[in-house]
Amino acid sequence: MPEPQTEIDEETVQGFSAELRGEVLRQGDAGYDEARTIWNGMIDKRPALIAQCAGAADVITAVNFARENNHEIAVRGGGHNVAGTAVCDDGIVIDLSAMRAVWVDPRARTARVQGGALWSDVDHETRAHGLATTGGIVSHTGVAGLTLGGGIGWLMRKHGLTVDNLLSADMVTADGEFVRASDDEHSDLFWALRGGGGNFGIVTSFEFALHPVGPTVLAGPVFWPADDTANALRFYRDFVRDAPDELGTVVKFGTIPPLPVAPEELHWRPAVAINACYAGPVEEGESVLRPLREHGTPLLDLVSPEPYVAHQSGTDSTVLHGWHYYWKSTDLPELSDDLIDVFVNHAFSAESPRSYSVLFHLGGAVSRVDNDATAYTGRNAPHNININGVWRPDETEEFADSETAWVRRFLDALEPYREGVYVNFLDADDGTQRVREAYGEHTYRRLAEIKAEYDPDNVFHLNQNIEPTG
Ligand SMILES: Cc1cc2nc3c(=O)[nH]c(=O)nc-3n(C[C@H](O)[C@H](O)[C@H](O)COP(=O)(O)OP(=O)(O)OC[C@H]3O[C@@H](n4cnc5c(N)ncnc54)[C@H](O)[C@@H]3O)c2cc1C
Repeated sequence: MPEPQTEIDEETVQGFSAELRGEVLRQGDAGYDEARTIWNGMIDKRPALIAQCAGAADVITAVNFARENNHEIAVRGGGHNVAGTAVCDDGIVIDLSAMRAVWVDPRARTARVQGGALWSDVDHETRAHGLATTGGIVSHTGVAGLTLGGGIGWLMRKHGLTVDNLLSADMVTADGEFVRASDDEHSDLFWALRGGGGNFGIVTSFEFALHPVGPTVLAGPVFWPADDTANALRFYRDFVRDAPDELGTVVKFGTIPPLPVAPEELHWRPAVAINACYAGPVEEGESVLRPLREHGTPLLDLVSPEPYVAHQSGTDSTVLHGWHYYWKSTDLPELSDDLIDVFVNHAFSAESPRSYSVLFHLGGAVSRVDNDATAYTGRNAPHNININGVWRPDETEEFADSETAWVRRFLDALEPYREGVYVNFLDADDGTQRVREAYGEHTYRRLAEIKAEYDPDNVFHLNQNIEPTG
C-alpha cells in the first residue's frame, strides 16, 4: 500500500462533513481534544479528522472517504482498549461513540446494540426486563471491542462468552459494503468476528441473546490481608474446582479501594479479594458462598444481595478514565502450589497503590463450546490473569518506571505456566508475535484467510492485527 495521506485540504473536509449526519472534528475545533481522549491517559494521539458517526450511513461514508483518499483508519467503540488502538496520529478516527442505542425484544430475549454502546447502556436496558447477557466486569467498557475479542465476565460460566451470545452483526467492510454476518449469512465472517477483533470491518450493531438474570443476585468481594494470599489461593483452588456454573469469581490482588463501602481504616490496605457473583437464586447462592465467607479471618465481607447491574458497575470507580495503565496478561493453568508462590512473591510488590492484578476463573459454559466454533481461543484455560500497572498522570515521574518493571517482572515469573493470552488484554508493546500466540497457528491461519477475503489491503490494521494471507 502507498504511504497514507496525512494532509487534508479544507475543501475536502467540508465536502466530507456535508455528507455526514454526525460531526467532523479537526485540530482546533471545540470538542476535538475530548474526542481524541480515551480511557488510557497514556495515549496522546492527534488524528487529522475525527468522524463522529451518527449511524450506519455515516460509517459507510467515512470508510469510503478514508479509503478513496488513502487515509489511515482507527475505529473507536468504547475507547477502552489499553493499547490505544481506537485513535491514531494524522489519520481518521471513525468514532462510533455517539451510536449507543440498545433495543430489547423481551419476548425473543434478544437485544440489538449499536457499535459505540458501553456495557452500562446494555445493562440499563436489559435489566428492565430482568434479562442480561455476558458483559465485562467494568461497565464503562465498550461493547464492540470487548465482544469482537471474545468477552469474559461474571456470567460467562453460566451463559458463555459474549461471543457465544452473539446472534448476528451488521457491519461495514473495507470496501464500504454493508453486510450482516450470522450463522446463515457470511458465516465465515461471523466465525471470525467472534474473537478476531476489529480486523474485518466496522460493526454498526450487534444482536445478542439475553437470559433471565436476577434482577437481584448474591454478589460482592471478601477481602483478606495480603499476607494471607497463599492461604486464600489454596482455598480458592478447591472452592472453584467443582463450582456450579452460576458462580463467577475474580480474584483481585491490590489495595482496598477508598470507597464509602469500606471502613476508612482499611482504605489502601494491601489485600487479596475474592469477588463473586452467583447468577442463580439468592438462597442457593447463600449456601454456595458460605465457605468463601467463612474462610479464615476476612478483613471485610461485602457479599450481599444486590441488583445484578449494581454488581456489574461496582468496580467502575476503581479504574478511572485518564489514569495511566500498562498491562500484561496470560492464560494460566490450575493453581499449583508453585504457581501460588509466584503470586505470593510478586502480586504485592508494585509501588503504586493503584496497581493491581486480576485473576479470572473461566471454565463452565466457556469450555463446553468447541474450540473451533469461534475464533476466540483459550476455552480450555481455567484462568486468565491481567497484571495492571496504574498511576495518575501527575504520578508519572514517581511510578511509570517502577510499575512497568513490576508488570514485566510478574509476567516473567509466570513464564513457566503461560498457556496463551486473551487478545483483548494485549498492550501496545505486545507485538504481532503475541497476537499469533493469542490465536495459535491453526486459528490465526484461518483468520488470515478470511481477512484476505474481506480486507485484503489491511485497511483495518490499527488493532490486534491479523495480516491477510498472501
Ligand atoms: C477497565 C477495563 C476493564 C475490562 N474488563 C474486561 C472484562 O471484564 N472482560 C473482557 O473481556 N474484557 C475486558 N476489558 C478489555 C476490553 O475487552 C478491551 O479493552 C476492548 O478492546 C474494549 O472495547 P472498546 O470498544 O471499549 O475499545 P476501543 O478502544 O474503542 O476499541 C478497541 C478496538 O476494537 C475495535 N473496535 C472498536 N469498536 C469497533 C466497532 N464498532 N467495529 C469494529 N471494530 C471495533 C477496533 O479495532 C479498536 O481498535 C476491559 C478493559 C478495561 C479498560
